[in-house]
Amino acid sequence: MQSRWVDRDAKDTVDRYAKMGIAPELALRVYTTRLLGGDPKLVLHGGGNTSVKVRMPDLLGEDTEVMCVKGSGWDMASIEPAGLPAVRLQPLRKLRTLDALSDADMMRMQRASLLDPLSPSPSVEMLLHAFMPAKFVDHTHATAVLSLIDQPDGEKLCGEVYDGRMGFVPYLMPGFGLAKKAGEVFDKNPNVLGLILDKHGLFTFGAEARESYERMIEMVSRAEERLKKNRKAMFKSGQKIPQHVVAEIEVAPILRGVCSLKNDGAEGAHRRLIIEFRTDDAIVNFVNGAELARYSQQGVITPDHTIRTKNWPLIVPAPEAGKLDDFKRAATQAVEKFVAYYKDYFTRNNARVGGAKKMLDPLPRVVLVQGLGLFGLGRSKQDAIIAADIAEAWIEGVTDAEAIGTFKSISEADMFDCEYWPLELAKLGSAKEKPLAGQIAVITGAGGAIGAATARAFANAGAEVALLDINLAAAKTQAETIGGNALPVPCDVTSEAVVRAAFDQVVHAFGGVDIVVSNAGAAWQGKIGEVDEKILRESFELNFYGHQRVAQAAVKIMLVQGTGGCLLFNVSKQAVNPGPNFGPYGLPKAATLFLVRQYAVDYGADGIRANAVNADRIRSGLLTGDFIKERSKARGVSEKDYMSGNLLQREVTADDVAQAFLHQALELKTTGDVTTVDGGNIAAALR
Ligand code: ZN
Repeated sequence: MQSRWVDRDAKDTVDRYAKMGIAPELALRVYTTRLLGGDPKLVLHGGGNTSVKVRMPDLLGEDTEVMCVKGSGWDMASIEPAGLPAVRLQPLRKLRTLDALSDADMMRMQRASLLDPLSPSPSVEMLLHAFMPAKFVDHTHATAVLSLIDQPDGEKLCGEVYDGRMGFVPYLMPGFGLAKKAGEVFDKNPNVLGLILDKHGLFTFGAEARESYERMIEMVSRAEERLKKNRKAMFKSGQKIPQHVVAEIEVAPILRGVCSLKNDGAEGAHRRLIIEFRTDDAIVNFVNGAELARYSQQGVITPDHTIRTKNWPLIVPAPEAGKLDDFKRAATQAVEKFVAYYKDYFTRNNARVGGAKKMLDPLPRVVLVQGLGLFGLGRSKQDAIIAADIAEAWIEGVTDAEAIGTFKSISEADMFDCEYWPLELAKLGSAKEKPLAGQIAVITGAGGAIGAATARAFANAGAEVALLDINLAAAKTQAETIGGNALPVPCDVTSEAVVRAAFDQVVHAFGGVDIVVSNAGAAWQGKIGEVDEKILRESFELNFYGHQRVAQAAVKIMLVQGTGGCLLFNVSKQAVNPGPNFGPYGLPKAATLFLVRQYAVDYGADGIRANAVNADRIRSGLLTGDFIKERSKARGVSEKDYMSGNLLQREVTADDVAQAFLHQALELKTTGDVTTVDGGNIAAALR
């Protein structure tokens, strides 16, 4: 591992922050924190922190000895000085004289010692930083070092590799106890350049930012070098991996289905997860290894991973082509066993700690599929990505640990204490989950006004959204507006092959599909007795068969998942109330209205609901200025009266339609329903 320190960059950082009144030492603390945070082999998703001890004025302007330490919620790779809140050092140092300090009291002390009470809460590892005298303190969970210390004889190995230059702290969970223990180890040999925390990570110290940072690089490099020596041949494949393993997009919907909780909270409400797939030679070598069942079930490589990946992954056998039913059966059994084991694990450990904990969902967060790779699972795409990132680091760490010895993690009790530690869980945030969390929604015609408004509404309700449109640029623009993991997909719904490819892309990105808003459409006009048959057929191709193709592609995936689903169609008031010269548009829409009911009938028993919205006169790609002019002329009214020509005399917007779709998606006991969103039109009323 090379130092990424560049003198010019360091100087630029100091100069830039000097203009904002930031001291050089804090500017350099920001610079090296970013260097550490930018390397996933050192720091991954919140697994590390840094500090610097300086003097600065308090709120009254009095010069105070403080420590600026990484605050929670900040990413080290993009940290700013505000992400390193200052805490008063004197009161924190006094805590070392206590025999014990509860987590609640520690948190209270942390907040009480903030120089600015509006700052973010400091890292839960803050006290360890405070108890070390060094000006700069760096902490990471570097994968290479974890491979050395996640061993039965980690202390001996570190002794050889570091030759007494690093102190060795036996495993304790983070908090006051660990900080105090680290202080004792340091006091025994104050010449050490840092500390190794068994089964957890390492700290390095320095008088300067560069010194502490480069000591981190040096210590990790030494571990890397040791990992290259005397390696055993790795993971001889002892499993019978079939020759023809199916693609990941065939497997993902099956896994989503089996890794869900049926009737969670309400009848028909499934707790679902989003998927992120990863594979490469190292992953496949690991998952195909003869001793997978041993080395994969030992636990995490560093305790804070447990809140993202749980302690153990789920293992399922290779999915052989032509035998997906067997795969589904095996995966179902594996999940049932996993969940039963998790519940037992929770029950026995909860009893040990007093029985007051509430069980988290027992579903796996990492699935290893032999012959294929790994799936990260999460309640959002972002959580699935984090689980997959951590699982990849775990595979690397375990592989190297096994190469030089035997991988060994902390005990089950220690893993439980971290998984259910309120201070660790706080990293996940306390915001209430949104109603569509864990669900994947596909919206066609998402580049247009109604589709875009619907995609926005579903994303705001917590769904992962795929925006399908024949105009990819329009879909991209809307996806960028939504942000996050919103996925633009090119899709012409008049082509079966294109629709299939679009759904493949959605499954690849998220793992399946739960909700479809079939919205793409366009208007053709013509007097029905005179219209060219070609026009009628063109309109049917889009306004009827387009819906059918999309619904069919979605249902196929929903049936594989086995967790129900929701098909929503943008029909039109034309389906029940023909407008003059509008037959070419109204006829296929009338057929689509019937299509909705047919899906409701044929798939109700599978928990798949089918509903429609009949909207009227929405300003959209379909209803442009010219078109409004034409239709108002056909009706013999002014444009303004045409747009608000309804019982309520209110213009209906794309957002109104989006809210109707959202309502239908959330109503678990409604199917075969048509909701009118038209401001009131008795002639178009269904009954
Ligand atoms: Zn740590």
